[in-house]
Amino acid sequence: MSQFNVLNRYLFTDAHARGELVQLSSSFNSIIKNHNYPVAVEKLLGELLSATCLLTATLKFEGDITVQLQGDGPVGYMSVSGNNNQQMRGIAKMKEETSADSLQTLIGKGTMIITIRPTVGEAYQGVVALDKDNLADCLAHYFEVSEQIPTKIWLFSDTEKQLTGGALVQLLPDGDGSVENKQKQISDFEHLCQLTNTIKAEELFSLEAEALLYRLYHQEAVNIFEPQAVSYVCGCSADKCLSAISQIEPSEIKAILAEQGKISMTCDYCVTTYDFDELSLQNFISDVRH
Ligand SMILES: [Zn+2]
Repeated sequence: MSQFNVLNRYLFTDAHARGELVQLSSSFNSIIKNHNYPVAVEKLLGELLSATCLLTATLKFEGDITVQLQGDGPVGYMSVSGNNNQQMRGIAKMKEETSADSLQTLIGKGTMIITIRPTVGEAYQGVVALDKDNLADCLAHYFEVSEQIPTKIWLFSDTEKQLTGGALVQLLPDGDGSVENKQKQISDFEHLCQLTNTIKAEELFSLEAEALLYRLYHQEAVNIFEPQAVSYVCGCSADKCLSAISQIEPSEIKAILAEQGKISMTCDYCVTTYDFDELSLQNFISDVRH
């Protein structure tokens, strides 16, 4: 699936539930290249990328989602953002070198913060403790406490092949709210989770989505939507750097230029460096009197 950066969404029409499958290659590579992260950090960042794709695909409006992991471990901060167009970026910040290899030992005691920002309207935030063994279980816990929708997530990363992916199964809000209906929904959900639980990393990383979905759900009624492309878009630009520079006192800009001949800004996410010389900063310093 080296050519795939794709998200599939589908409905289980008889079970009143929805599902998603994400398979990522170059978008994952774009997030980890140039950073020299330890393998375990790349693996967790891959899982966080897949998880954020799955979450942004649940948005019912235009906007973006940021999923942050923060803790007292050697990786104090990890974050992936994505929008409803599946444009993703992410970063990990290392406090110290580490050979840790689990969520608990990498991030330490901490929290997962999910921020949902609609393009129109108020942002809102959900916070849960990172007290489960893996990211997928922490996310299931988030859905349980914040949204109260039965949801299960599966996440896989292979750093050697630079592939990551995952699946999601989620109940839709029920129709009449009756007890029988609720019981049927829960048993349908558990059945779909059992089927999805047979998913293997090597299948996710080698099969086309359609073949994998057939393998998992061939006995279910599944309505598959048009696949959506996932891409890496950092969003940094020379213009955004200039707007940050415009906040600096003109006298300070002059002092930096006198000392270094330019102002350099490097993006934390994609490690692109933007250089600005005196000529390109003329607008910000022209009113400084000598
Ligand atoms: Zn950037």
